[in-house]
Amino acid sequence: MMNRQGRPTALPLSSSEIGETFTGNRALQVEEPLLFEIGSVDRSGVDFEEHEKLTEIPKELLRKERIGLPGLSEPETVRHYVRLSKFNYSIDGGIYPLGSCTMKHNPRLNEKLARLPGFSSLHPLQPERSVQGALELMEMLSDWLLGITGMAGIALSPKAGAHGELCGMVAIKAALEASGESARRVVVVPESAHGTNPATAALLGYDVRPVAAREDGTMGVDAIRDALKEDVAAIMLTNPNTCGLFEREIVEIAEAVHEAGAYFYCDGANLNAIAAKVRPGDLGIDAMHINLHKTFSTPHGGGGPGSGPVVFSKALAPFAPYPRVVREGDALRLEEGHGNSSKDGTAFGRLTAFHGQMGMFVRAMSYMLSHGIDGIRQASEDAVLSANYVRARLADVLNQPFGDQVCMHEVLFDDTSLKGSNVTTLDIAKVLIDEGFHPMTVYFPLVAHGAMLIEPTESESKESLDQFIDALRSICGRATADGGEAMQSAPLFAPRRRLDETLAARKPKLCWKADEADALAAE
Ligand SMILES: *Cc1c(COP(=O)(O)O)cnc(C)c1O
Repeated sequence: MMNRQGRPTALPLSSSEIGETFTGNRALQVEEPLLFEIGSVDRSGVDFEEHEKLTEIPKELLRKERIGLPGLSEPETVRHYVRLSKFNYSIDGGIYPLGSCTMKHNPRLNEKLARLPGFSSLHPLQPERSVQGALELMEMLSDWLLGITGMAGIALSPKAGAHGELCGMVAIKAALEASGESARRVVVVPESAHGTNPATAALLGYDVRPVAAREDGTMGVDAIRDALKEDVAAIMLTNPNTCGLFEREIVEIAEAVHEAGAYFYCDGANLNAIAAKVRPGDLGIDAMHINLHKTFSTPHGGGGPGSGPVVFSKALAPFAPYPRVVREGDALRLEEGHGNSSKDGTAFGRLTAFHGQMGMFVRAMSYMLSHGIDGIRQASEDAVLSANYVRARLADVLNQPFGDQVCMHEVLFDDTSLKGSNVTTLDIAKVLIDEGFHPMTVYFPLVAHGAMLIEPTESESKESLDQFIDALRSICGRATADGGEAMQSAPLFAPRRRLDETLAARKPKLCWKADEADALAAE
């Protein structure tokens, strides 16, 4: 039998035919036990000197039981972590089409620059005169982000998208309080929103008023108007939305929101579809977070933490938190502020200790400078092109829930075409693992039944997109051809077979206990 690359393959194996090796390992993939299970208390990676003074420790303070740490030599420790790391799928290993996450290539230039000692060895408490270069980079990054978004003010300190949402919504709350309108207790959120939107509103004590989308998957201004009662503080809208569609009535929605005396928070995590194409400031947005770790590379797991700067409209800019980079003559300064001591007295305070994720600022700035504004525009266009290529090539095997329409940077399918088979969205995801791909986002957004959200990003070649698409076409073909029984036991070739994800989520075992280890292994 030949596979699609024309290489001979083994006959298809059912799970019972795979068999076990003597060691439990599969070729060079080693079945790695937990650190605690390979260790031995009588071994150690370090030699401690016998210390006479130890005998002087008062008896009652001496440890009576074993400390319970695994005793490991250095090579054992190194192997353990290297083997575990090989279980990881990463953007450096293959296409990572996780919708709403923008897992794009992480240029090595970013890493090189972030590791410059002048950036990487800074201490946040260094005197300002010794960190002028770093402050200049923060100023430059602010200018670029404000230019790309057409907004008036910025807070660099939020450390992720969700944190940025909190920042923006706290600023909105502060602005409403300042104008004596704290009676507004409701935040309007479309049903298709990312879960972090209603969560942010709820965290700040707001009630969430959901609004349903139209048949085409976008928000209509009429439905929003109906929801905009006097009690509304803000709307939180994602654009492009989580169905991968551009909100075409966004300008009318912004006008309606402002007419109602509320603020417009835009979830800008998907900026990578529109960067340098549309300026959110021109759409009437008051606050928006930008996920540096999506739009400007360095995705989750790509070598660092997240960073979610927030840009503000003129109306909200005074409420942006400290610290702020300010220029005084030739020198740059971090305006820290204490209480309400800033010049305008309206900053809502601090969001984090210090000033944010410096390493991510450097990476984002490196990405922007190496692409230039024309390159950023092309990246947005190519991201949309890639998603539409995937869409078009899968159109005859998977269904778009809101009708055949052009998408932005990600394409949403539902499970309509699987009806009549025994295959679910989850099965498709698991078979994709066997085929060597990280699955797409599944079961999100909730507005599509059995959702499959694919975001290929601009950094995949046509060849790699074709390979992914061909695999998915083959899986869909198998699902409908034979009812897909075999798929229900996938993944067959992963280090772990299908897990009881509900049990794992509801009753996670977070503590290793020696006496439970054997029983667990048997489960
Ligand atoms: C990723 C994402 C978020 C949250 O960003 P984090 O950095 O993961 O906190 C919020 N909204 C949307 C639409 C996203 O895609």
